[in-house]
Amino acid sequence: MPVGTLATVKGVPQDVLEELGAEIILSNTYHLYLRPGVEQVRKLGGLHSFMSWPQAILTDSGGFQVFSLNDLRKVTEEGVTFRSHLDGSAHFFSPESAMQAQIGLGADIVMAFDECTEYPADEARARASMELTLRWAERSKRYFEEHKQEVPWTNATLISSHARTGFLARSGEHGPPVGVETPPVGCNPAPIQAEATQALFGIVQGGMDPALRKESAERTVEIDFPGYAVGGLSVGEPRHVTREIVEATLEHLPADKPRYLMGVGTPEEIVEYANLGVDMMDCVLPTRAARHGLLFTSEGKISIKQAHYAGDSGPLDPNCGCRVCRRYSRAYLRHLYASNEVLAQVLNTIHNLSFYLDTMRAVRHSISLGK
Ligand SMILES: [Zn+2]
Repeated sequence: MPVGTLATVKGVPQDVLEELGAEIILSNTYHLYLRPGVEQVRKLGGLHSFMSWPQAILTDSGGFQVFSLNDLRKVTEEGVTFRSHLDGSAHFFSPESAMQAQIGLGADIVMAFDECTEYPADEARARASMELTLRWAERSKRYFEEHKQEVPWTNATLISSHARTGFLARSGEHGPPVGVETPPVGCNPAPIQAEATQALFGIVQGGMDPALRKESAERTVEIDFPGYAVGGLSVGEPRHVTREIVEATLEHLPADKPRYLMGVGTPEEIVEYANLGVDMMDCVLPTRAARHGLLFTSEGKISIKQAHYAGDSGPLDPNCGCRVCRRYSRAYLRHLYASNEVLAQVLNTIHNLSFYLDTMRAVRHSISLGK
């Protein structure tokens, strides 16, 4: 999943994301809650309508940002008090308010509110944090079940957005978003009754202790969600530990439901995790690295800022068919980056996303061949 923190994958228009074959993107509840605000997005028909993205969206719970961007946070049983990184104002997230925010934003997949255990954490701390996340998972699910009909999809704005993008005309190709029925063509659509609702996923924590991870996975599965995420990894631990914990966790999560590994990884790592049985991943790496001139290619990583590319008339990646590699030379991309041109960030991001999405297409192809 490409990361579109503020309802935008930085530098890439939505039609280009579609051309790249992105089928789902991730947006961040914490950032959207602060700006432009959940109520604003809800009134505009939810994220799909607001950002003109008719394909799938997943929102995180806001928990990770609250824990990673806020040194002054205060955690209690009830929830987390934190300060905005924008203006220092005080805010409070609880399982209930995080669910309320995600229902208002209207993504297809929403996440339970969890505590991302810091690294390193001793066993007592990891257990206490895991127990808190389990109690918060119960509360997240209870609030979600009581309020899941309140999705903004009931607004007719979503339909007009789809009509504008021509999405409904080709809905046979992709299928409409969850909960949206296709209205009769030419009719003034009545508000849609959202029969299907969002999917709430649970999150496994437990620090770097395989036994705690097993317990967290089993007890989260007992609460019963339509999909499960492995959280609290890529928080500073060595890579071999990440892999061990992923392996130790996955075997306790049902293989017939989506298994989502949060916040990874390099192209090599996403292949490795897919091989272990992970179905979904998100990472800022392809987009963030692109903006810093770091490009992933079939021949390895390239830092396009290096002077030796100044006269290189070859494509960025001779094995990539993306619109950037088809059209521009390494010399031109190096010039754009060195000149701090906006187009450098746009083109670099498009290529990196293309490389990641191609990588996952290759993974799916291998799976379909039984390899
Ligand atoms: Zn390319």
